[in-house]
Amino acid sequence: MHSVVLTKGVPDFREGQVSFDEDGHLERGKTPTVMNPNDQFALRAALQTKVKHGGQVSAMSMGPPGYGDVLREAMTVYADDLYLLSDREMAAADTWATAITLSSGIEKIGEPDLVFAGFKTADGETGQTGPQTAWCLDYPIITHVIAMEVDEAERRVRAKRLVEGDVDEIETVESPLPAFIITDPEYESSYRKATHRLRRKQLKDETEVRAEEHEDHMTTWDHADLNLDPDYIGLDGSPTIVSSVDPIPKAPAEREATMVTPDDEEGMSEVLETMQPFAAGD
Ligand SMILES: Cc1cc2nc3c(=O)[nH]c(=O)nc-3n(C[C@H](O)[C@H](O)[C@H](O)COP(=O)(O)OP(=O)(O)OC[C@H]3O[C@@H](n4cnc5c(N)ncnc54)[C@H](O)[C@@H]3O)c2cc1C
Repeated sequence: MHSVVLTKGVPDFREGQVSFDEDGHLERGKTPTVMNPNDQFALRAALQTKVKHGGQVSAMSMGPPGYGDVLREAMTVYADDLYLLSDREMAAADTWATAITLSSGIEKIGEPDLVFAGFKTADGETGQTGPQTAWCLDYPIITHVIAMEVDEAERRVRAKRLVEGDVDEIETVESPLPAFIITDPEYESSYRKATHRLRRKQLKDETEVRAEEHEDHMTTWDHADLNLDPDYIGLDGSPTIVSSVDPIPKAPAEREATMVTPDDEEGMSEVLETMQPFAAGD
């Protein structure tokens, strides 16, 4: 069973990491890049498939050379090998040009049984790349997946999915393999057998060691390796141009802040008095 997991780098939007200029524009150069948080669920689903059916898990990303670190982060969740699709011709791609490039990378690997992608990224947030890549590969697609099992003998995947993302409405669907799976942030793996839990632990230990030497497990392809015409990828191949990114105005601070220093006894006792009812659960 061969699974490919797609992952993208996004700005680290956590407090204290992200940097905005005085006009509220994101300063990408000053903001670290991390693996898209939603992609961890796609990696976990691929790990579950490997635990139960063996085989290989490959993580793939299209982006600048720095995305090698994004793939290292993906390998800490789980990956046997890594593929970075990177060169200048691929830069500033919209989701369509990204899908063309990713599907060519997947086809160069061969015909994987399962391709996984995250629900959406923390920056572009379109959620379009997965479905477009599935279309390019002509794979059946299941979105909003919260649980799944593979029937290797029947070459079918059975999945529980949220109907229109609604946690109260769940349907079970089946698809022949190969198939494209988009995991929902509500996705959870299931390991009912002790043997599977042991196997999972063993694989997790191995992948964390492997991630320390992630470059030894990484293949980098440029557009020539993928036999891609530069006119169809990157900015040239993008029907959508992101004309501008307007910062979302900050919500006015509703909370009042009172500064109290530890040596201010009166102030500290007022703080204790205010917090006591909450601590005592009144
Ligand atoms: C603020 C902003 C707005 C944008 N708006 C648009 C727009 O309206 N239309 C448009 O076409 N482009 C848009 N883009 C460009 C778009 O971000 C890129 O094309 C990007 O590569 C894919 O789109 P996404 O970030 O929305 O990812 P999504 O489609 O939300 O990603 C879903 C999943 O696809 C996989 N994936 C996505 N990108 C990659 C990648 N590079 N490598 C590997 N896996 C990947 C991941 O598993 C991810 O979880 C925007 C970019 C920004 C920063």
